Amino acid sequence: MNNDFTDVIVVGNGIMGALISRKLSDAGLSILVIEESAPCAGSSGRCDGDILSQTKTNKFSMELTAWCVNAYREMEAELDTDLKFDQNGSLMFVTDPDLVATNEDRVRELANVGIHAEALTGDECRDIEPRLGPVVAGGVYCESDGAIYPPGVVAANTRSARGNGVRYAFGERATELLTSRGRVCGVRTDRGEYSASTVVNAMGVWAPELRVTGFPELPIKPRQGILVVTERFAPGVGVNLLEAAYVTNKKKDDFSDTPSFAFLAEPTMDGNMLLGSMRRFAGFDLEVKIEWVAEIVRRAAEILPDIVNVSVIRSFAGLRPWTPDHRPFVGESPEHRGYFVAAGHEGDGIALAPATAEIVVSQILNAAADPIIVQAGREFGVERLFA
Ligand SMILES: Cc1cc2nc3c(=O)[nH]c(=O)nc-3n(C[C@H](O)[C@H](O)[C@H](O)COP(=O)(O)OP(=O)(O)OC[C@H]3O[C@@H](n4cnc5c(N)ncnc54)[C@H](O)[C@@H]3O)c2cc1C
Repeated sequence: MNNDFTDVIVVGNGIMGALISRKLSDAGLSILVIEESAPCAGSSGRCDGDILSQTKTNKFSMELTAWCVNAYREMEAELDTDLKFDQNGSLMFVTDPDLVATNEDRVRELANVGIHAEALTGDECRDIEPRLGPVVAGGVYCESDGAIYPPGVVAANTRSARGNGVRYAFGERATELLTSRGRVCGVRTDRGEYSASTVVNAMGVWAPELRVTGFPELPIKPRQGILVVTERFAPGVGVNLLEAAYVTNKKKDDFSDTPSFAFLAEPTMDGNMLLGSMRRFAGFDLEVKIEWVAEIVRRAAEILPDIVNVSVIRSFAGLRPWTPDHRPFVGESPEHRGYFVAAGHEGDGIALAPATAEIVVSQILNAAADPIIVQAGREFGVERLFA
């Protein structure tokens, strides 16, 4: 056993681990981060960075995403860093004219939580994004939505945490939670043991791999996605685009390794564009098949006919940490005092990372939190695994 006692061990340095360790160290706690690989080596380095209130399907999720938008702005000020958070809006469109009327419902739902959005005709969509083709029949424009650069967020929080004295064990694999009489006392790794009274499992799709005696198996499954990256082009697409079918595709749990697609395009601040999206359950497979890239490009050419001469420069796969009830697991185990989980955010982990960190940090410090964070702590709590 390594005898250096640490207040909190955070396992994993993706976006959850990076934000949690930075915030806990801001509060003066001593922290050790154990990361099997390098910072951002998991899903947070293999994704895009959309933060979209309008893709959420209930009042609570819309409000929580809006809270995170503000939290990212505050984070930029706290860290004195440009996190490349571009609030360039989102335009979620339909191609079926019969569905245009449904856009009014979304605008009303967003208005109920104080988010301004507009229902647009096809031509009004093209006024906002002139590259959109005639296939777009109408849409909803939400100006406060945007996208961030996830590796930059992880790097800025890690740099700040290191400045606060956080220690890192990179290249070390946590294998088991150590407990004594129902309380956490440390972590075993492939190199040794570390003692701490609090441990946070921020291992993303690998969260179920930490052995914890008496804790139900975390039902988190990897759900593959691929992204296709274009070269820079100008004038670029100015707004985050996605088809309304994206929302239903995300909620469809067919457990098939046959990919399902829904169009999404995220312009980067450097002038490239990320094209998606694809979902597929295939274990930890990170393969990218050329026919999947071709399908994403074919659909992009239909929606944005004007970009057919823009080249694809690369593509890559990542894994979304899916859960059966589409809610992450965030909070303390009722049966293991000091053991916290912060994992299972599927395709919303970048958007929800600030709220996740706030739940975990407020619970560890026993500090007051905004009502929406308290509600999120209840909605996402791990108690539901013990029911
Ligand atoms: C294609 C794609 C597009 C996406 N787009 C978006 C988007 O637009 N907006 C959005 O909000 N979300 C998006 N997501 C989802 C988002 O990427 C994830 O929800 C988020 O990155 C999860 O972060 P995390 O910190 O929980 O996990 P990770 O980033 O995977 O971090 C977990 C870390 O734990 C480490 N680890 C694992 N096992 C161990 C161990 N035994 N010991 C020590 N360390 C360990 C890993 O190396 C890794 O670094 C997308 C995902 C994909 C795949």
